[in-house]
Amino acid sequence: MRSVEEHRRVVAGLINPRPPVALPLAAALGLVLADDVVAPLSLPGFDNSAMDGYAVLATDVADAGQDSPVRLPVAEDIPAGRTDIPTLAAGTAHRIMTGAPLPAGATAVVPVEATDGATDTVTIRSAPREGQHVRRAGEDVTAGTTVLRAGQVVTPATLGLAAALGLGELTVVPRQRVLVVSTGTELVGPGVPLQPGQIYESNGVMLAAAVRDAGADVAASPMTGDDVDAFRETLRGHVADADLILTTGGVSAGAYEVVKDALGGSGDVEFVKVAMQPGMPQGAGRLDGVPVVTLPGNPVSALVSFEVFVRPALRVAMGRPDAERPRREAVLTEDLISPRGKRQFRRGVLDGDAVTSYGPPASHHLRWLASANCLLELGEDVDSVNAGTRVQVWDLR
Ligand code: AMP
Ligand code: MG
Repeated sequence: MRSVEEHRRVVAGLINPRPPVALPLAAALGLVLADDVVAPLSLPGFDNSAMDGYAVLATDVADAGQDSPVRLPVAEDIPAGRTDIPTLAAGTAHRIMTGAPLPAGATAVVPVEATDGATDTVTIRSAPREGQHVRRAGEDVTAGTTVLRAGQVVTPATLGLAAALGLGELTVVPRQRVLVVSTGTELVGPGVPLQPGQIYESNGVMLAAAVRDAGADVAASPMTGDDVDAFRETLRGHVADADLILTTGGVSAGAYEVVKDALGGSGDVEFVKVAMQPGMPQGAGRLDGVPVVTLPGNPVSALVSFEVFVRPALRVAMGRPDAERPRREAVLTEDLISPRGKRQFRRGVLDGDAVTSYGPPASHHLRWLASANCLLELGEDVDSVNAGTRVQVWDLR
């Protein structure tokens, strides 16, 4: 049997980053910068007022105080957005708003709260320091400075900075496009009454959501029966849009294993047993050069194997610095047994520092997975573990 680590390496080795693309700012959120960003201009772009008030020569109002007001004629009114820059004559004031360009010659701004707010002759009752309440050009960003680094995740604040610098696009590592194919003749879509022996298809919507949650795109999520020709036809119909083909079902040891039957012969997809529970039957390889990962059909196995093998590989290929789920130790609240020789991933509920396994280990118990918030990882060498032991958990929150 192949180890979990070995299969993680195989899957990670299949998935390659897509070439960088320039995307409009809003579309770049959550992606990783492919290039450094150098500021094309300075911020602020011009000296401007930090307050609503009056632009003055600090020396003209040096003696102003609560009991010794200074009166100055108001020669100009400068709202934000005024594009000409007036010159302040000594012995006058300009009424000025926050963000408006500072008039040439002004050396400070007196906040409106320290004045009577007049528009003809203003009475000033405090003396500003030189430069007080003035935002200097370039004090935030100097043109030519590298302000963002390749490898950074684009956040709302990243977009704010890029927009402030007048950039319309950012060059990022694109999302991987994943084709999610569910197989099984027993599967029926929602809204269709079930015949005996049929079940509602659940892997498709679940894995498509997991793909999006990982930051990748879903190329399509079709479902096909256990028919090799129909399965191949489905792949052919969508493969051109996919960077990764992800299948579920049809890879175990029975008959009618459609994925194995369709992809096993070519030699480009290898089907293996991984020393893990759930999720033992796995496959990985290429179809016409496109990476293929074949997950088992049981919903719990499918999602746990996605977490263990596919999610980190997709995120590495998208440049994510946080490719892995956070892992930490927690104190087990109960005794557990685990199959020796296999790594077991149980569904768990993490509460502070304590973890409790949630539901039975078998791989069809979707109900428990739906309300778990972590995976509890028990090593290959463990066959029993007692309450109070520190165990490793993958935090899914
Ligand atoms: P398989 O690996 O195809 O033998 O499937 C294993 C188990 O998972 C069977 O009980 C299937 O009915 C079930 N299964 C496979 N694919 C899906 C799916 N897309 N949605 C729900 N159950 C599935
Ligand atoms: Mg099947």
